[in-house]
Amino acid sequence: MVKKKPKKRKKSTKNWRNFWRLGMDEFNTQYFDVSQNGDLVVKEGHYQYNIMDIVRKYGTSTEVFFPYILENRVRDLMEFFNAYIKILNYKGKFFYHYVMKSNQNRDFVLTAIAEGANIEVSSANELFLVKRMLEQDKFNRKLRVTCNGPKTNQYISLIEELRDKGLIVIPIIENAEELEKLKKFRGEVGVRVNLDVKVDSHWDKKYNHFGFDEVELLKIGKIRNLSMLHYHISTQNEKIEGFIKPLKRAFPLYAKLKETNPNLDTINFGGGMAVPYEKRKKLLSVKNLVSQMIKTAKKESERLGIKHPNLVCEWGSYFTAPSQISIFKVLGEKHIAKKADTKWYFIDGSFICNLTDTWSVVRRKWHFTSANHLNTKRLQKVWLAGSTCDADDRYTASGNYVLLPKLTEDISDLYVVAFDTGSYQYTLSNNHCLLSKPAMIVCQNGEIKLSRKRQTADDLGKIFGWNGDHK
Ligand SMILES: *Cc1c(COP(=O)(O)O)cnc(C)c1O
Repeated sequence: MVKKKPKKRKKSTKNWRNFWRLGMDEFNTQYFDVSQNGDLVVKEGHYQYNIMDIVRKYGTSTEVFFPYILENRVRDLMEFFNAYIKILNYKGKFFYHYVMKSNQNRDFVLTAIAEGANIEVSSANELFLVKRMLEQDKFNRKLRVTCNGPKTNQYISLIEELRDKGLIVIPIIENAEELEKLKKFRGEVGVRVNLDVKVDSHWDKKYNHFGFDEVELLKIGKIRNLSMLHYHISTQNEKIEGFIKPLKRAFPLYAKLKETNPNLDTINFGGGMAVPYEKRKKLLSVKNLVSQMIKTAKKESERLGIKHPNLVCEWGSYFTAPSQISIFKVLGEKHIAKKADTKWYFIDGSFICNLTDTWSVVRRKWHFTSANHLNTKRLQKVWLAGSTCDADDRYTASGNYVLLPKLTEDISDLYVVAFDTGSYQYTLSNNHCLLSKPAMIVCQNGEIKLSRKRQTADDLGKIFGWNGDHK
């Protein structure tokens, strides 16, 4: 009996890892594992972080960012592109632009830039942060910045200011007003086209309010300093076709535009690469996609008799989502009337405040595990309830269930972990019911540091004008 026990344990650790879909490349959980005593651990080389250490030190709700995960993703993609460019003898260059709106935290942005990323901004305020970094000499002037979003006068003067400081800032012109406003701009500009192409993905909108229609664009003729043709089709695009089809559509347009705009030399294929949020089925292979994109670009260029264009990638969530997890405490449970096999688990966070994509924008489904007790055989089907007063503040996996450890006498302290929370959630988040935004922890090189404190009641009061000087 005594001898058998450790053997059994070892085997079950591996089984539990599989059971919780950890340690799997295809789901971006290759860094995650279950410790001998059932805690969630995150590996960095031969080092490992125990998530429960973070919970004990910093409490919940907490977001944990792993810069090395972001680094590896950026490095891998740049390597894939550069490798296939070489193998296939493609003459254009590849540029990756970190999408700032997917996560504006300094820790994220600097990590990506340090790996060689350029930047894409979606507003004047994001560009303002770029200016701050430039003033602090935080990056060299080889960094390229593409600027999307409405070009207000303030935005344009910031673009001009940074250009005059020697940075390559490329405003992407999206409509006739912007074209007029940027007529005298002395730097390179891009133009956004609303491609007439349908892809099977989340956004597949019939009417798109971004960019020029194809016909409209070709009528413009000469655009001063035009160097980039840009399109952005969709988000959470899970099929290779969803990238190849628009690329093929863009080429003849690019070739036509190039006739009147000889300095045009770049196609920017925007964002939209899918993340395996649900961890149920394997998504497309990025390596395969990259090789097909280069092959397509080469073939189309040769067919049209043009120089191979440079390619710009603006994938956002693909890089940032898997680099962060969010942790919440289970506050208690409650039976569900008319659904005897499932229980509510209440968490000290919120789907409305913290995981906003659950109910708005894209109606995201998430993968959940717990941070502890991952080796218990006693499991419970649950729906998760957030801490606001809203009936919508819940997660039911679309009427299905989430499997988590059962609350028992032995298991009363349970922490829930949501995966892939690194993109968009923090800026979409809010303070409904005056809930606090989570703390942010950064784990890198074996060290754990607090990057942002959890909001306090006092912080929150100040936002709403309760400065303490009113009686
Ligand atoms: C939002 C956005 C992206 C990033 O989209 P993801 O779905 O996160 O990859 C890229 N380019 C533009 C212009 C965008 O608006």
